[in-house]
This record gives sequence, C-alpha cells and structure tokens, in this order.
Amino acid sequence: MENEDFQKHLEQLPLLAKKKHAENKKYFAKLKKKPPKDLDYQMQELHQQTFAHTNCLECANCCKTTGPLFTSADITRISKHLKMKEQQFIATYLQIDEDNDYVLKELPCSFLDHQNYCMIYDVRPKACREYPHTDRKKFHQIASLTIKNTAICPAAYEIVEKMKKNLPM
Ligand code: SF4
Ligand code: SF4
Repeated sequence: MENEDFQKHLEQLPLLAKKKHAENKKYFAKLKKKPPKDLDYQMQELHQQTFAHTNCLECANCCKTTGPLFTSADITRISKHLKMKEQQFIATYLQIDEDNDYVLKELPCSFLDHQNYCMIYDVRPKACREYPHTDRKKFHQIASLTIKNTAICPAAYEIVEKMKKNLPM
C-alpha cells in the first residue's frame, strides 16, 4: 500500500473495526468454545504472513494512540538504561490507570521519535515487544483485547479478517 493510501486506511480503521465489531464478537465467542487444535500454529502462520508485508515504521499507530503497560521489570530496565532513578522515571513518564497499572502519562509515547523509531527499542516494555499479541499461544483467550486492537492496528485487523476466512466457525 502506498503511504498515502496507508494513512487513509489508518484513519478509517476505527470505523472499519466498528462495523466488524458484532461479527468479530460472535466469531471469538465460538472460537473460545471450540478452539481448533492447531490454533497456535495457525496464528503463528497468519502473524508471520501479515507482518512480512506490514511496515510498522510507516504506522506506529500503537505508539501514538495506545501505550503499553509497564511492569516493574520494565521500569527497572528502562530507568537503568536512561540512567534515571526509578522514582524519577515514574514521575516523569508514567501514571497509574484504573486497573492500577503503570501506563504512559502522555500519548504519543514520549519515546517515539519523528521518524517513528522507538528511542528505547532494545529495552522497550514487554507489552511493546509483544504487541499486537497475534502470535501468542492460546490466542482465543485474549478476544476482547484483540477486538479492541483491530481499531488501532492494521495488522491485527487484517489477521482477524484472515482468521475468519481460514478458520471458519
Ligand atoms: S516504548 Fe517504544 S515501542 Fe513502546 S510505545 Fe513507546 S515508542 Fe512505541
Ligand atoms: S504493531 Fe500494528 S499498530 Fe503498531 S506499528 Fe505495527 S502495524 Fe502499526
């Protein structure tokens, strides 16, 4: 997809995801009840296929619109990397959300540079490394998170669309 087309697609993604919401909810409810035996394998395949043609540097929508949560191991590792005291790191960049998790104070993420590179890539939070979680095991267990991600991540949207075709329920 050309950059301009891709940016348009990104803008339309929340609406596209909204239109598919009921269908996706139904699909995942069925998937949860009867997950195929080879679901982990199928998801690895779909994830790899989709990310082979996804340019995250062109997108960075996850870093711009939703942040990761920071585990205590993330906080220790990143503050050490930045040569900051943990409390100073927390006070500068983080806040506590309604689930009592540490999340970013500001969006887009303070560590995203103007060319969509992550300035702390090697030590980034675990949740950033794993986003959008489409290659995780027992994928059927994270249905609501995935449905939410179809509005943010074009790759997650595409993977869910392909799932419905490849693994009809
Ligand atoms: S830490 Fe890096 S990968 Fe994670 S949201 Fe920020 S810029 Fe994106
Ligand atoms: S993981 Fe998804 S939302 Fe994040 S940059 Fe890649 S395609 Fe975009």
